Amino acid sequence: MSDGMIHDSVGAAREAFAALMGEGAAPGSWIGAGLVSGIGEPVTLTDPATGAPILAYADAGVAVAARAAAMAEKGFRAWAALTPAARGRALWAWGDRVAAAAAPLARLEAAVSGKPVRDCLREVAAVADMLRYWAGWTDKFEGRVVPVPTSHHVTVRHEPYGVILAITPWNAPLFTAGWNVAPILAAGNACILKPSELTPLTSLAFARLALEAGLPEGVLTVVPGFGASTGAALIACPEVGQVVFVGSPEGGAAVGAAAASRGIPAVLELGGKSANIVFDDADLDRAVIGAQSAIFAGCGQSCVAGSRLLVQRGVHQRLVAAVAEGAGRIRLGHPLDEATEMGPVANARQYAKVRGMVAEGVADGARLAAGGAAPASLPEGGFWLSPTLLADVGNRMRIAQEEVFGPVLAAIPFDTEEEAIALANATRFGLAGAVWTRDVGRAHRVAAAVRAGTFWVNGYRTIHVSVPFGGFGASGIGRSSGIEALAAYTRTKAVWVETAAEPVAGFGYGPAKG
Ligand code: NAD
Repeated sequence: MSDGMIHDSVGAAREAFAALMGEGAAPGSWIGAGLVSGIGEPVTLTDPATGAPILAYADAGVAVAARAAAMAEKGFRAWAALTPAARGRALWAWGDRVAAAAAPLARLEAAVSGKPVRDCLREVAAVADMLRYWAGWTDKFEGRVVPVPTSHHVTVRHEPYGVILAITPWNAPLFTAGWNVAPILAAGNACILKPSELTPLTSLAFARLALEAGLPEGVLTVVPGFGASTGAALIACPEVGQVVFVGSPEGGAAVGAAAASRGIPAVLELGGKSANIVFDDADLDRAVIGAQSAIFAGCGQSCVAGSRLLVQRGVHQRLVAAVAEGAGRIRLGHPLDEATEMGPVANARQYAKVRGMVAEGVADGARLAAGGAAPASLPEGGFWLSPTLLADVGNRMRIAQEEVFGPVLAAIPFDTEEEAIALANATRFGLAGAVWTRDVGRAHRVAAAVRAGTFWVNGYRTIHVSVPFGGFGASGIGRSSGIEALAAYTRTKAVWVETAAEPVAGFGYGPAKG
């Protein structure tokens, strides 16, 4: 380990969980003001740095899901009884609680998800800011008056759905919880959060902090467990009026179909295969750093990861060599080591997938320019993979078409702007992308032509809750941030008030004023 300390994720996770949830607390569903044990299959959380078990809990199951939904319905009524300003003050106070608990939250997240603790600290701070940002919106999402051509006064109100179910993945558990839960609540709904079965602990702590901050019981309910059992049971609960899903395209298809069968809307935030396009007029030093952070931050387990590096032929060799050299300098280490820049892959299933896809890429003809193996210096049994660069990749290879969701970059050469745009768009995904160039006209042309929900010019990765985020194509439907999220998490109600002094003739349709 680079700080010379022996780190113990198992001990750190148990200690941080006890500090956040209370001595002796055992993971279960957060319903009301306490933890309820599941009744389903056991789930074991594993230390990604060593493969050792951290702790086990039981999948919530159908009966606990039903109890959670009933509690959420009560929570919605209590939340609705507060003034919008009071809801805002509660969200703000919750942000303060999250910020004050940053150290144990970040250690718990790092120990269970394998993400470096310094990244986790940044994510916790971002969650506190998300709550404060959305706190300001509770009393500002106004309705409107429509000047209809009749004697009516028509108002359009934004009304919450009631209970919204948020289903989240394992790659940034608390960040994604904050990203989704905060606007759901700011729009006046209660939320049931179904975190990934592999990383539920910080979501539970998040709910306890909400209660401590003064949010009524049931406004946030957390139900850990498997997608196919607990997740599906929650979607089926009649109290649930909408689903927000963050996860894989396959999971999204199942959730979207289940929601459609109940006639409720679903916002789907899915995967990506985003293109990071470097032209030969770019500031190459910045582009190299940008290419590395686009794929290796979070060990590549980021939905917006710039996993395809499209490089113009004139600078291709130079750029690929520089990225390979930089990849070798990234500090891979224990997640609890504050100097670590990249931790292990988060879980055994993902590790097997990532290593399999690297091997397949090489078998398909890609050249391994960096990484591809686990460094011998790191603990055995852990899910380690050095930052990996595959060069000479063809865009039709599976490594260029399917999401790896690991620290694996595929470099692809191109000659012209048209070719770069065509390559960028030649996947089923459309989550994000970037262009590196000094030509402002080209920057605008490429940004307009690439099919993606988020696009950066001479940068990568920055997102903020104030800006709409979501995908094109197989990357999803709907937007989970920006004012678009408030529109998504409410439905309009048109209220027609008859203002005519005389009774209206006919069948109740007001006379047209002409
Ligand atoms: P996943 O689809 O396996 O699981 C995501 C969540 O959905 C988990 O909580 C899981 O238990 C649940 N789930 C799965 N199937 C379900 C079903 N049939 N019914 C109800 N719930 C179900 O995804 P993952 O492996 O946890 O996460 C990785 C994926 O998430 C990647 O594809 C990544 O790109 C994507 N992701 C997208 C975004 C985004 O905002 N677009 C952000 C982060 C991660």
